[in-house]
Amino acid sequence: MNSNDAARLDALFARLRREVDTYIGYPVNCAFDYSLLLRFLTLPVNNIGDPFSGGPTRVNTHEFEREVVADFARLAGAAPDEVWGYVTGGGSEGNLYGLMLARGAFPEGVAYYSADSHSSVAKALRLLRVDGTEVRSQVDGAVDLDDLRGRLGENRDRPAIIVANVGTTMKGAVDDLPGIHAILDELAISRRFLHADAALGGMVLPFIDDAPPWDFRAGLDSLAISGHKLIGTPVPCGVVLTRRGHAERVGRLTIPGSRDGIAPLILWHAWRTHGVDGFRRIVRGCFAVADYAVECLRAAGANPWRHRHSLAVIFDRPPAAVARKWQLGVQGNIARLVAMPHVTREHIDRFVAELTTHGSHLV
Ligand SMILES: *Cc1c(COP(=O)(O)O)cnc(C)c1O
Repeated sequence: MNSNDAARLDALFARLRREVDTYIGYPVNCAFDYSLLLRFLTLPVNNIGDPFSGGPTRVNTHEFEREVVADFARLAGAAPDEVWGYVTGGGSEGNLYGLMLARGAFPEGVAYYSADSHSSVAKALRLLRVDGTEVRSQVDGAVDLDDLRGRLGENRDRPAIIVANVGTTMKGAVDDLPGIHAILDELAISRRFLHADAALGGMVLPFIDDAPPWDFRAGLDSLAISGHKLIGTPVPCGVVLTRRGHAERVGRLTIPGSRDGIAPLILWHAWRTHGVDGFRRIVRGCFAVADYAVECLRAAGANPWRHRHSLAVIFDRPPAAVARKWQLGVQGNIARLVAMPHVTREHIDRFVAELTTHGSHLV
């Protein structure tokens, strides 16, 4: 590499580091240190195959991947031997996987997902050619159960594939899982498959008091969680979990052939460094910053609010220059910041000071 190319890498690194300093709008944790794992970048690690029965090659981290799957299984209220799973490339792949299993279980099923669901859900349904119905959501982002009842009622003779949100991307809303089961019971729809999209919520709800029901104990069939969101990883990743029987039905396949073998190590490192107690402390710290943000934004007249169980703070959409600089999530006339572990009170102070200078309302 010539010195010009090396200088470009230096400049890129400096720019990315700078951008991280104003990265408060997306559910991506930028605070982590996996330097113990740097040496693994010198090896062609590839986790191809089922982590539980082994792949065709041995330069893999399946043993660590299995432990990571077990850690997430326990977190999601399942005994490790009840579920199967693998480390994915992110929440989207987990949603695709869960819906593929749903179609395997019920080829004639109709999928129901809310207007606030992540775009990966509609994409997966298109790829899989599963009939999908978008259900209205309430202003707070949770699925509208009356609309769901109506739509289920139109297809009572067909199995129901429900994609439930455990923390919507924009507002952090959690769909009412017991309420959904009650409606399915009421309509006598026993052929049902529930997949939960818990990209961010799956690493938040386990650590708060009186969380709404969200995990396998609430009758899930499969669950997708992102690794790069609350945990924070240098490459996108996630975990998908499902009840064993569903995985057996499709021969315990994984969507990719060659798979990232470093991501499981990174997640394993995170679990061994923090553990459940460490993550609980981290999440508590995040909620303290989220509350601080609500307080400051209220004083600035920006009409903030957040769900009790969510780290996403919603407020009036600020001028474009401010939204762009702080990389806010925006939708219509609202904006979002997410109190991820790297977001400090100091970030909030600087952000709100700029809001106040530029005026807090859409111009
Ligand atoms: C981020 C997100 C996803 C997609 O996850 P990726 O890891 O980015 O693929 C899916 N669902 C929800 C609710 C999300 O917030």
